[in-house]
Amino acid sequence: NKQVVLKNYVTGLLKESDLDIVEGTITLNLPEGSSEVLLKNLYLSCDPYMRNLMNNVEGPDESFVPYTPGSPLMGYGVSKVLESGHPEYNKGDLVWGFTKWQEYSLVPSSQINFKIQHTDVPLSYYTGILGMPGMTAYAGFFEVGLPKKGENVFVSAASGAVGQLVGQFAKLSGCYVVGSAGSKEKVELLKNKFGFDDAFNYKEEPDLNAALKRYFPEGIDIYFENVGGKTLDAVLLNMRVNGRIVVCGMISQYERSQPEGVTNLTNLIIKRIRMQGFVVTDYYPMYPKILEYVVPKIKEGKIVYVEDIVEGLENGPAALVGLFNGCNVGKQVLLVARE
Ligand code: NDP
Repeated sequence: NKQVVLKNYVTGLLKESDLDIVEGTITLNLPEGSSEVLLKNLYLSCDPYMRNLMNNVEGPDESFVPYTPGSPLMGYGVSKVLESGHPEYNKGDLVWGFTKWQEYSLVPSSQINFKIQHTDVPLSYYTGILGMPGMTAYAGFFEVGLPKKGENVFVSAASGAVGQLVGQFAKLSGCYVVGSAGSKEKVELLKNKFGFDDAFNYKEEPDLNAALKRYFPEGIDIYFENVGGKTLDAVLLNMRVNGRIVVCGMISQYERSQPEGVTNLTNLIIKRIRMQGFVVTDYYPMYPKILEYVVPKIKEGKIVYVEDIVEGLENGPAALVGLFNGCNVGKQVLLVARE
């Protein structure tokens, strides 16, 4: 049973050498009376928050428990049930939830989030558009951002797992949307595949404030924050009165021991901006509503989703590190096994 194990807590930049591929063992039969579920992992999701769980720092609640050095990574995945000690799950069911980065995992049934109902879309989508990142984009944009038709929306890390959907939700809501990303290829995707009104490469903009003034001469109503740091600081200067900042993530800060200073925070006050953080897990009860909104749009081609699928558990460490260097084009997925 191949596993990806965290060697030790990480400080600074994550390196492939912080992770190890080891062979473990697992009994492919559930012990008598167990209420656990034995899973064959098919797709594993590579997500930025995983870096935060490699710090030796307890989070504010049980959603942020650091990994244990010497143990396999944990993360979202799509799996097939091999044996189940819980009446809700049966052998052969496809599920998505929190699993271990190994070929087969034994997990408490409480770690399974949902049974997969729609199998006429790619299964890997349950790590992305129909999984945690999709819910993040939906809950963050609609519930926290409270968009109105005609508003101006800016999205950072816009071509990624979450950002590509926020941009498409914004267009479907009648907003004007501009995205930033870190390469020419990603900027092309934003404009030509995801239908953003405009897009720019933040690495080629020495003055982000000037760039935002160019794209939003009348200012920004909703900023969907994925990166933090200098981008947030420049955005604050360009927000409109009563704007909303949806604080989804700050990936540019995750590997820093000292966060970069945000100097323009007083704009929150004079412009009455609402800057609100959120954690996607609080919105899981909305999942049926999200499926109802998204699934027909996938089938009708009104929403597209780009994935970057790497095959083989042994390639997991490189895929994870790549998130922090912008190597992924679209949602980073690890294919562990075909059904
Ligand atoms: P992505 O698929 O967008 O992958 C990460 C991307 O971030 C990279 O491809 C890269 O794109 C960009 N990036 C990496 N380092 C930097 C940097 N230093 N400065 C600017 N951009 C950088 O990831 P997700 O869509 O999965 O996640 C996006 C954000 O949403 C993250 O901050 C994540 O933590 C957050 N999140 C929050 C949740 C919540 O519950 N609040 C739930 C899920 C995600 P590029 O080439 O464009 O630089």
